Amino acid sequence: LTNRIAGEGAAAWDIHYRALARQAAGDDITVLSVGDPDFTTPGPIIESAVASLRGGATHYADVQGKLSLRQAIADGYRDQGLEVGPEHVIVMAGAQCGLYAAAQCLLDPGDEVLVPEPSYVTYEAVLRATGAELVQVPLRGEADFRLDPAALEAAITPRTRALLLNSPHNPTGQLIDAETWEAVAELCRRHDLWLISDEVYAELIYEGEHLCPAALPGMAERSVVINSLSKSHAMTGWRLGWVMGPAPLIGHLSHLALCMLYGCPDFIQDAACTALTAPPAELDEMREAYRGRRDAVCEALAESSAVTAIRPPAGMFLMVDIRATGLSSQAFADRLLDEEGISVLSGEAFGPSAAGFVRLSLTVEAERVAAASRRLAAFAERVQSERSAGPRAAS
Ligand code: PMP
Ligand code: GLN
Repeated sequence: LTNRIAGEGAAAWDIHYRALARQAAGDDITVLSVGDPDFTTPGPIIESAVASLRGGATHYADVQGKLSLRQAIADGYRDQGLEVGPEHVIVMAGAQCGLYAAAQCLLDPGDEVLVPEPSYVTYEAVLRATGAELVQVPLRGEADFRLDPAALEAAITPRTRALLLNSPHNPTGQLIDAETWEAVAELCRRHDLWLISDEVYAELIYEGEHLCPAALPGMAERSVVINSLSKSHAMTGWRLGWVMGPAPLIGHLSHLALCMLYGCPDFIQDAACTALTAPPAELDEMREAYRGRRDAVCEALAESSAVTAIRPPAGMFLMVDIRATGLSSQAFADRLLDEEGISVLSGEAFGPSAAGFVRLSLTVEAERVAAASRRLAAFAERVQSERSAGPRAAS
């Protein structure tokens, strides 16, 4: 077996599957360990898929994606000020597939790709599968894990080929602001780098706004934008995403898609087109629900002496600093599941700079996530007091 596919990151969700197994066995578990919306896909999107299937959409679809859908996706970028047409878009089986395919089309063995760390769990495996190297650029918890362009610049070498950025960010919920994007764009232009921009949480913003870096001067020809309907439309299981970029890259991706994917399902593309051209009211309701959950968690943890939440301006996740407990983030997550029936992910699964943090997903309703947060804080305080009692007890 090739060691280009080595399963990096695969263990991150072990605790999540443990939580699901306990839930299936009848235990009362609050699952805050995965970024999968708890909402059902809005009805009109489901109806559109069913109608399309009944209408006979059971055949191969265009490998690059149906023109109607690519046009709808392109229109979304045009609304953001980009000159984008259907020739700049390829439909992929989710953002994950888009990321993988884009990396295959851009990178060669020996290339370096700068990735702020912590970062989404699959990035390492995506890059390694190309033979390129992932170069981690640490983000600092003390700075709320905000991106520092100077740290990016310091990591650039003659082998650097691309930056892989994710805003809003998984796992921290941070948003790259306009000034930082300008600085990043300047780096890309000066060092002739590709910018791979993973924007799957772009519709889930509570404060601030999403900026697509491809809209900045000189960036359209070097930006590869990845997105999907997974989070914004509660459609993780439909596997519908896309890549937007320069037409030659999209042509290259189409060649890869022909030998890899052979096009996404026709009826799902019809439903995606409905989702984008007739946005259901539920989209705003879901965003407001996530906002309410974020606020509920922050409020529940505000008074804690043992943990500190970093209030995220966007996304579906929230990082909690558990360093005062003295436990590693994995030990904290393991004990929280075993003793309190609450599953969260260890920050370390996303990179060493998130050691001492755990990630909570905002994927259960506000009251329940707030109650779980209060129990998490009480658990952390208990660990803390056991720890301070420990040495005295021994002496
Ligand atoms: N990028 C990030 C940052 C993610 O969090 C995820 C999934 N949670 C993906 C990409 C993949 O999304 P999709 O379901 O569209 O493949
Ligand atoms: N991206 C989601 C997360 O970060 C889940 C994806 C998955 O389950 N593989 O939790």
